[in-house]
Order: sequence, then C-alpha cells, then structure tokens
Amino acid sequence: ARTALFQAQKMEAIGQLTGGVAHDFNNLLMAVLGSLELLRKRLPDDPRLLRLLDNAVQGAQRGAALTQRMLAFARRQDLKPEAVDLSGLVSGMSDLLQRSIGPTVRIETRFPAGLPAAQVDANQLELALLNLAVNARDAMPEGGTITIAAREGGAPADLPEGRYVCLSVADTGLGMDAETLARAQEPFFTTKGVGKGTGLGLSMVHGLAEQSHGRLMLRSRPGAGTQAEIWLPVATAETGEPRPGAAAIVPQTV
Ligand code: ADP
Repeated sequence: ARTALFQAQKMEAIGQLTGGVAHDFNNLLMAVLGSLELLRKRLPDDPRLLRLLDNAVQGAQRGAALTQRMLAFARRQDLKPEAVDLSGLVSGMSDLLQRSIGPTVRIETRFPAGLPAAQVDANQLELALLNLAVNARDAMPEGGTITIAAREGGAPADLPEGRYVCLSVADTGLGMDAETLARAQEPFFTTKGVGKGTGLGLSMVHGLAEQSHGRLMLRSRPGAGTQAEIWLPVATAETGEPRPGAAAIVPQTV
C-alpha cells in the first residue's frame, strides 16, 4: 500500500509539473506559429524559403500536438464520467483511428450486442484508445491487425464487486519482455528513443482507468503481441440508449 501511495503521489506531482510546463510551452508555440504565419505573408516567392518555413511550421505543430497530450495527461482531475456506449464511441472515431495509425495496419472491431454502457469520461476514453492504437501500430512495423473488442465481466483483480465492462485493444506485434511490461505504465517510461516516445501514453490510460474506478491491465509476451484491457464500471444510472457525450453525468461513489 505504501508503494501504491508513493506511486500515486509521484504521478500527481509529475502531472502538475507536466501540466504547468505543457501549458507555458503551448503558449510559446502558439506565438511561434503566429509569427511564422506573418512571416509567410512577407516572404518573397522563393520555393526554398517557403520550404524552410513549412519545416518550421510543421515542427511547431508537432510540438503543439505533444503539449496537448501532456495537458491531457495532467488534466486528470476534470473528468466528466457519463454513461458511454463503447461500440458507438469506437465506431464514431474509426476514421480518426485509421488516420492516426496509417494504412499499414487494419482495425477489426468486435462488440457483442446488448453490452451495458460504461461509466467513464468519453473524451478521455477516446484519447486513451488513440494512445493504445498508436502503440499497437508502433509494435507492428511490418503491418498487422488491431482488434478492438469489448465484453462484460466481473470485477477484475482486486476491484470491488460489481458489474464491469472491458474494452480491449490487441495487436499481433513485437510484444514486451517482462521488464518492459512491468514498467510500461510508468510516466515517462519509453523504449522508443528520444523524440519518438514520450512515455506518457500508457500512464494516461492508467490514470484514466484508475480515476474511473477501473483498471488498466496489460498482457504481453515477446513475439506474441500485446493485449491492453481497460476495465470500467458499468454505468450506474443507465437510461434508455446512452450515446457518447450525450448521457447524463452520474455522480461517482467510491
Ligand atoms: P510511448 O509510446 O511514448 O513510448 P507509452 O507509455 O505509451 O509511451 O508506452 C511505454 C512503453 O511501453 C513503450 O515505449 C513500449 O516499450 C511499451 N509498449 C506500449 N504499448 C506496447 C505495445 N502495444 N506493444 C509493445 N510494446 C508496447
């Protein structure tokens, strides 16, 4: 329990620091982008100069996208849990998912009929899925298939009794060795190298699952692919047909 508390405090501190830095950095990048756009209007019509300008703009935009991820990671406090239809959420973002992972990897979805709604922040869950899908893509440099599925089940691991739904993202990629698997959810842990990985993807998913009174569970073996499972409580006040972003906000009980 002591290590769990320490880990939670560490996450909290890192979250606050990250949020502050990302926020300031984002403002700086917005100023840079603004100046570059002004510069574009004044620049003589020279293709070489325009290419340099485009490079600078792209770099600043990539930086801005990164700060958005960091802000999303830090903004764990303002979750708006609601009844979310997982199948609807995933089909609603399938274009975004496919565009984010590129053409080399296929996405398959498997959702049973009559799956109960999950109690979770829909926007953050979309971000979590995006993180998992990008990780799966990165683990399949030769291409492959990502399977996004959902099922209902009992309480996983040490969670309180109750009804839970599991949203899983499985790949057929390189997998993780035991040491990587053990550390994968730590903030800033990455094996992707400087400038490629932030190490914030899985810690964001982990944070969302914990704050939603659920759990992120990872299964992986080298060569056998990876399965990430987000376990979430079934929505407590299911009313009719919940849609992502449109259902009532239900107060959380711990
Ligand atoms: P990042 O993707 O920026 O490295 P993450 O927190 O998302 O940060 O992941 C941390 C590490 O966990 C990755 O660098 C990688 O080593 C490992 N990992 C995550 N997802 C997968 C996956 N689907 N297959 C193999 N390894 C993975």
